Amino acid sequence: MNYNDILNKRIQNVPPSGIRKYFDLLEGMEDGISLGIGEPDFVTPWHIRDAGIYSLEKGFTKYTPNAGLSELRRQIAHYMKRRFGLDYAPIGQVLVTVGGSEGLDACFRCMLEPGDEVIIPTPSFVCYGPLVSMVHGVPVYVETKAENEFRLTAEELRAAITPRTKIVVLPFPNNPTGGIMGKADLEALADVLRGTDIVVVADEIYAELTYGQRHVSMASIPDMYERTIVVNGFSKAYSMTGWRMGFVCGPKEIIAAMTKLHQYGIMSAPTTSQYAAIEAMKNGDGDIEVMRDEYNGRRRFLVDGFRKLGLDCFEPRGAFYTFPCIKSTGLSSEEFCDRFLAEERVAVIPGSAFGPGGEGYVRACYAASMKNLDEALKRLERFLSNLKK
Ligand code: PMP
Repeated sequence: MNYNDILNKRIQNVPPSGIRKYFDLLEGMEDGISLGIGEPDFVTPWHIRDAGIYSLEKGFTKYTPNAGLSELRRQIAHYMKRRFGLDYAPIGQVLVTVGGSEGLDACFRCMLEPGDEVIIPTPSFVCYGPLVSMVHGVPVYVETKAENEFRLTAEELRAAITPRTKIVVLPFPNNPTGGIMGKADLEALADVLRGTDIVVVADEIYAELTYGQRHVSMASIPDMYERTIVVNGFSKAYSMTGWRMGFVCGPKEIIAAMTKLHQYGIMSAPTTSQYAAIEAMKNGDGDIEVMRDEYNGRRRFLVDGFRKLGLDCFEPRGAFYTFPCIKSTGLSSEEFCDRFLAEERVAVIPGSAFGPGGEGYVRACYAASMKNLDEALKRLERFLSNLKK
């Protein structure tokens, strides 16, 4: 068999994620510390786990409606109103997905024709470009800058738009930079988009994790509701990565097309997880608060630590990542990460893995214990002083 001929060329040509290698290397290290993985270190709050367990005890082990349990969709609609002031009809405008990941994939698959362009601000989460390419779309990367606090500016957006632009991804609060977009920033983008047919895919998975100011959804900006699909989920806010629970909200025509994809490709999101998710939405606000406060303390600790060691570090205002600049070491971001892992057994991720604009930076996730953050900084101090020798 010639598998090269059998496999789809587009899929073959997509490079594997630049993140994975560091987890594989760390795996065999006894006292290794991972600030690599983008995942909360908390166990899902007990009452949410309990709701999942209870649903199993009751024997709720069948498929749910394709778009998700109606009670869950009602709770999601209620949540979107309560937290972001947005009105969505539980039937027709809400789809429960297998993580935000499925939501993103479905957005691109249900809208893109070959050659359609998708504007993707970078550095950003690794999945957008590959998902776009795999459905014959064209990723158009726009580098955000440290001097603009890694926000996408109206000028940058305007310059990237062509007659083929179909979608702009808004990945804020951002992974890996921690950058956020406030109301005025979003309004400036809205001025560019008004009057076009460009759709916004707003990846708001970190919406609950902002420090100092509440997240504003692009869909709440005047005239943006009708062109915005909000992708969100339970992984980050409720520490539920393994449950694979996400959702999308948007115009009913688009949600109907996404539901068709989901119906044929997935059937329905995991039933146990949906019951747990209902509990999260009903009684989970307090958990978010506690975890956010904890992240905030760690964020301060890590940012201060980097700065004390002489690394420039932009103040991240959302998600749970810091993005220190390592240009002063003279190493590329990949060399830095390879050597830091080999010499000090600490995993951080090269900024270059997150697209154009990431070179010269590394991503360090602070969803790790204070003890590990403290130890990682001590090892970093040693690493930096060894570099100078
Ligand atoms: N968007 C961003 C920006 C992310 O960082 C992640 C996970 N790292 C996701 C989406 C996907 O999360 P999930 O599928 O677990 O909801």
